[in-house]
Amino acid sequence: MKINVLTLFPEMFTAVTETSILGKAVEQGLLDVNLINIRDFSKDKHHKADDTPFGGGPGMVMTAQPIFDALDSIDAHNKKAIYMSPRGAVLNQQKIEELVEAEELVILCGHYEGVDQRVLDHWNMEEISIGDYILTGGELPAMVLIDSVARFIPEVLGNHQSTSDESIYSGLLECNQYTKPRNYAGLDVPEVLTNGNHKLIHLWQYENALELTKERRPDLWQKYLEKEKELTKDEKKILEKVAAK
Ligand code: SAH
Repeated sequence: MKINVLTLFPEMFTAVTETSILGKAVEQGLLDVNLINIRDFSKDKHHKADDTPFGGGPGMVMTAQPIFDALDSIDAHNKKAIYMSPRGAVLNQQKIEELVEAEELVILCGHYEGVDQRVLDHWNMEEISIGDYILTGGELPAMVLIDSVARFIPEVLGNHQSTSDESIYSGLLECNQYTKPRNYAGLDVPEVLTNGNHKLIHLWQYENALELTKERRPDLWQKYLEKEKELTKDEKKILEKVAAK
């Protein structure tokens, strides 16, 4: 998958292009992050890419010209284009799964007070937010989007991990996890996880996930109750037990 990123600060993106799981995905050619410095396209003699807003008000607005030319350079009219913005719908699983279907994406990162509206209108940009708070720029939100989408590209996580049994994506929050040693500082791992009985382990993990979800995310819990038909007999018993608590 190719993701074109238009930004004034391409150097910020080494966090996703050179580090850990995504760094490896880039190295293996599963993910191609094409960083485009908007300033390189400015026709202003000082490479200016922002100006004061019409109508007054605080801060600076990113100008249309460098962004138009940068978008032209990658033929963005034929590509799915996104503007990271607190005015957009908040990113969720459904949107991520939709975006991963695209072969190529274009992500525009705003900075300062945002970008000239004509960019968004002319290039038919979808605005996507990462939550109800304001950041100084769209770079961190773009990295959140890239990371969450890239995890769905086949082979990025390797076959030992899968997205479908994780928190949220499975419909439940993930159960508590433990690793070696069995006893640390006088604290024991739950006995059932260490005895090798896979059925009992599964049922313990299932009950733990149900309890956490009921307590912390009543919205997910209510939705999960509708899945009762898909459960095994043993799972159903546990669901009823947790529901009655
Ligand atoms: N004045 C704007 C906020 C500008 S913040 C307003 O009130 O709507 C600067 C840039 O950071 C924005 O252009 C956007 O690209 C990015 N940004 C800030 N908060 C964001 C969020 N919650 N989600 C996605 N992008 C965000």
